[in-house]
Formats: sequence, structure tokens, C-alpha cells
Amino acid sequence: MSEPERLRPIPAITRDTQFWWDGIQERQLLIQRCSACGNLRHPPGPMCPSCHSLDWETLASSGRGEIYSFVSFHHPPIPPFDVPNLIVLVELDEGTRVVSNLPGVPSDQVRVGMPVQARFDELEPGRLFLQFEPA
Ligand SMILES: [Zn+2]
Repeated sequence: MSEPERLRPIPAITRDTQFWWDGIQERQLLIQRCSACGNLRHPPGPMCPSCHSLDWETLASSGRGEIYSFVSFHHPPIPPFDVPNLIVLVELDEGTRVVSNLPGVPSDQVRVGMPVQARFDELEPGRLFLQFEPA
């Protein structure tokens, strides 16, 4: 009997993060911006950590950035994720950072400061995920 196909875990979507996931499905990388002081923040949250305003809007990111940090996950293998699983922390040109993946790039070729570009891949039927590729 074959192993059942394992799907990626469904993201935990809350009222605070709904806009971000909706943006991903429309191939947009949205950043939360405080309407009062203009502070950009990620991950999304209800209140500005700088001025405590509850008012916010979104800014569409260019998707360009650079590797701020990364880890190459080898063991134990956790289906459905490929190993090595290259997990990257990308500093976007707009100034916020986001955790994502950099598929198809050998970990010995990744460098801090490496320019990358966002892309949106359908990793599960009907569901897009944010990933990055070398720019
Ligand atoms: Zn603010």
C-alpha cells in the first residue's frame, strides 16, 4: 500500500493576516503600513509598534530584495517539503523582512546579500505560495 500524498500545511489565516494571503493569491506581495506614521511592518498585526495606531493600509512591494539570513534544513525529512529545504529571510527593498523559500538553488551557492525576486508558485492545487528566486 502506497503512502498517501501529503499536502503542505494550510497557513493559519487570521483577521490580521487575511489581506496578506489574499494578496499572495493575486500575485501581490503586500506590506502593512501604518496610516498614522507610515511605519512598515511584517508580520502583520493589529497595532503599529511605533505609534500604537490601529489604522493601517497596504503597500504593494516590488518583490525585490536580498538575502538577510538563511538556513538549509536537511534532517529529519518532513514530507511534503524537499530536503535540503532552503529557508530564507529576505529583506525587501521597502525595508521589511519576510521568511520564505529559495527553491532550486544549492545551499552552497546562497550568500547573505544575494539579490532575489519574489515569485508566486502554485504548490497546491488552487493555492499560491510566496517563494523567491535569484534576481
Ligand atoms: Zn504608526
